[in-house]
Amino acid sequence: MDLLKRKITDEGVIVSDDVLKLDALLNHQVDPQLTMEMGKEFASLFREEGVTKVVTVESSGIAVAFATAYELGVPLVFARRKKTLLADADSLSERVPSFTKGIVTDIIISRQFLSKEDRVLFIDDIIANGDAARGLIKIVERSGASLVGVGVVVEKCFQNGASSIREQGIRLESLAKITSLANGKITFADERA
Ligand code: 5GP
Repeated sequence: MDLLKRKITDEGVIVSDDVLKLDALLNHQVDPQLTMEMGKEFASLFREEGVTKVVTVESSGIAVAFATAYELGVPLVFARRKKTLLADADSLSERVPSFTKGIVTDIIISRQFLSKEDRVLFIDDIIANGDAARGLIKIVERSGASLVGVGVVVEKCFQNGASSIREQGIRLESLAKITSLANGKITFADERA
């Protein structure tokens, strides 16, 4: 998506060779027009898959997952980050390390919102090492629902999350592929370094 790549180039802030701050469009502020365009793009990529639910993880995935769910005409379920130590038999949970916060959190989805009949599309903001995606995929598997694929706004190709998920045979589509943040420059997959 050219519009997205332009916005990333103009408003992304390189924090290190590994981390790109995208607060202006994904992680703090939301651009509604761009977000709805991204939802349309994901919806068109996965329209033939018979999606019954879009799933994401709070909080940064919610806006684009909402736009996708809206385009597909299905509900959005967001996994919550658990803040209690109480076990809950009605919920499915997985422990995932957070790439940016350096802490471990539990993500949970109530069994009520995922069933064996569901065909689930997982949408998220950024994929790095893939821990959040792997946790969410395990929750979907344990619910008995079928995962039709994963859509991420930004794939950092120099980290192995996306490739490890594709190696599991899961379809993963990204709207912008970043191959490098080295030398203070954001390089996209379809550009020369
Ligand atoms: P993963 O679990 O794939 O290692 O990391 C995914 C999560 O960490 C994303 O949902 C995103 O919020 C956060 N994250 C990973 N890398 C970056 C980055 O370079 N910039 C920002 N802003 N967030 C990131």
